[in-house]
Amino acid sequence: MEQKKVPVLGISFDNKTKDTFLKELMKRINQNKKTFVVTANPEIVMYAKKNPSYMSLVKKADYVIADGIGIIKGSKILGTPIVERVAGYDLMISLLEEADKNGSRVYLLGAKEEVLQSAVQKVREQYPSIHLVGARNGYFDLSDTTIIDQVQQTEPDIVFVATGYPRQEQWIHNYLQVASIGLLMGVGGSFDVLSGKSKRSPEIFIKLNIEWLYRLIKQPYRIKRMMALPHFLHEVKQEKKQLRNKQSKN
Ligand code: UDP
Repeated sequence: MEQKKVPVLGISFDNKTKDTFLKELMKRINQNKKTFVVTANPEIVMYAKKNPSYMSLVKKADYVIADGIGIIKGSKILGTPIVERVAGYDLMISLLEEADKNGSRVYLLGAKEEVLQSAVQKVREQYPSIHLVGARNGYFDLSDTTIIDQVQQTEPDIVFVATGYPRQEQWIHNYLQVASIGLLMGVGGSFDVLSGKSKRSPEIFIKLNIEWLYRLIKQPYRIKRMMALPHFLHEVKQEKKQLRNKQSKN
């Protein structure tokens, strides 16, 4: 039987398809349940491994989504394959579609002002039934609690937080400590894609699971950050060895 949660280097991933996530998340919104969604790629897993305070935040999430083919590979190496990769951007778009059907209240928080404004325009054009209750750029101090108050006052059903990790998860955690409702999801650079500032890779790269290669060609300065992937796979193989040793001792 498929495992519901798949641990990979200390992070417990939800083993679900995008459609299942979507159904469950929308149900939680309708039930006014607070929800914290983390979309984690190998870079985030490696960062959490080195930063216990960030790791403890990720552990508080209601859903951890396998965003990145590296996580899928890792889960296979460990013998507990995750059903599919769910890109944070794709899940955000599906949530926007559902929000449009339901007339939900959405807040956009993050990115540079001009990127944010184009993202706002896109949402208004493409999802006219969404109540876009507010938008703010992502350049603010984390300790500035007035932002939490401002967002909360707009009573959003969904807040997409696009300030990059670890800031987005820290902010979401602070928000959910005071708010009583809302689905909050960290979406990294997704507003840049939504606004058209940065492009998602062509379909063929996505199909072949080499989206990372396209990103590297477009943004070669990311090479250092991308080195997290080989390190991640190395660590996964170590974990596999440890698991095997444990099993042979039992
Ligand atoms: N960003 C922000 N506030 C900051 C730093 C970054 O809003 O203080 C935004 C940035 O403009 C970009 C996004 O956060 O839109 C981060 O994108 P990146 O691709 O670096 O994040 P990742 O997807 O790797 O988490």
